[in-house]
Amino acid sequence: MERIYLDHNATTPIDESVLEAMLPYLKDRFGNPSSIHSEGQVVKEALNRAREQVAEYLGAESSEIVFTSCGTESDNMSLIGIYDYVRGKGNHIITTQVEHSAIMQSCKYLESRGAEVTYLPVNRDGELDLEEYKKSFREGTLLVSVMMANNETGVIFPIEEMVTIAHEKGVLFHTDGVQAVGKLAFNVKELDVDLLSLSGHKIYAPKGVGAVYIKKGVPCMSVVKGGTQEKGRRGGTENLASIVGLGQAMERLFHHQEEENKKIKKLRDFFEENIVAKVQGSYVNGVREKRVPNTSNICFKGVEGEGVILSLDLKGISASSGSACSSGAIEPSRILLSMGRSKEEAGASVRFSFGKSNTQEQVRKTVEIIPHVVEKLRAYSPFA
Ligand SMILES: *Cc1c(COP(=O)(O)O)cnc(C)c1O
Repeated sequence: MERIYLDHNATTPIDESVLEAMLPYLKDRFGNPSSIHSEGQVVKEALNRAREQVAEYLGAESSEIVFTSCGTESDNMSLIGIYDYVRGKGNHIITTQVEHSAIMQSCKYLESRGAEVTYLPVNRDGELDLEEYKKSFREGTLLVSVMMANNETGVIFPIEEMVTIAHEKGVLFHTDGVQAVGKLAFNVKELDVDLLSLSGHKIYAPKGVGAVYIKKGVPCMSVVKGGTQEKGRRGGTENLASIVGLGQAMERLFHHQEEENKKIKKLRDFFEENIVAKVQGSYVNGVREKRVPNTSNICFKGVEGEGVILSLDLKGISASSGSACSSGAIEPSRILLSMGRSKEEAGASVRFSFGKSNTQEQVRKTVEIIPHVVEKLRAYSPFA
């Protein structure tokens, strides 16, 4: 049975050209880029090139790119590294209720060290209230961290506008761009953000590699302490092969993402229109228009999302829910709860996230199967 993978916001397969680019660095080109001999210099060149590829995609200088071990580390570094550097000026951070746990848990950690954090709420469509945002600044606000696009709903936040407001108040701005890279056309100079996190495995590069853009002149303490790699901003011998892969993945996106996203958006829109039409009591979570092109989060009233996911899996289709398994109990998505959904509605929601290899035929098949799956589950459900 051919699998239909619709969970690209969780992770993506490695692109063929990315794998090709990486292989030499897993074999013969094994040097340490800090070494001055030839083995070292060969890989140092590769490291520089990857840095340029990432910088070019973002519209940054290559000296503004720091490689990390993942998106989570990039988020940790941005929040904790900035807080440690500027905390003398205050202790207040502004973020949202719908951030990834990498941001959420960094904030919780900083709270345990005396930070005060404002978690901005969202409305039923998953959007922020900019007036409330403006009012949340106060004496001692050090940093704003707001994601570009939400991993569960795909909702896009107005980062450019929010950065302008923060800078008027002299406050630094970090954005978690993990779900935006590859899906949105943007440029860090136009956005004017101070820091941006990204991750390899969401963009067809391997797991375990990420990067942060840190605008020239923005102070950020190293969180991983060690050698002077990454100009002292991140210790540890570089994960060369994966960094080369990340560079290639971003160069590939630079050239192909526009056409790929057009195709992906068509599939997503076709999927969504058909599901909402065919499955009674289903609706889309998140504002219609201001979403990344690949994400569709759908509530199927009266069923358990987990049930839908497991039934689809048996039929060869992979989707996911925002639910997290914590202490043995399945918790409904905190993102959807923040959007004012009831526990039942949040628990009945499923995320479908499309990618470059999905075909019209796969989506047609999925659209055919889902109504049957939901109907069957509803027949057994205590909520129906
Ligand atoms: C996946 C993800 C992360 C974490 O990236 P990892 O590389 O898996 O650590 C952070 N933020 C968002 C929005 C994500 O989707």
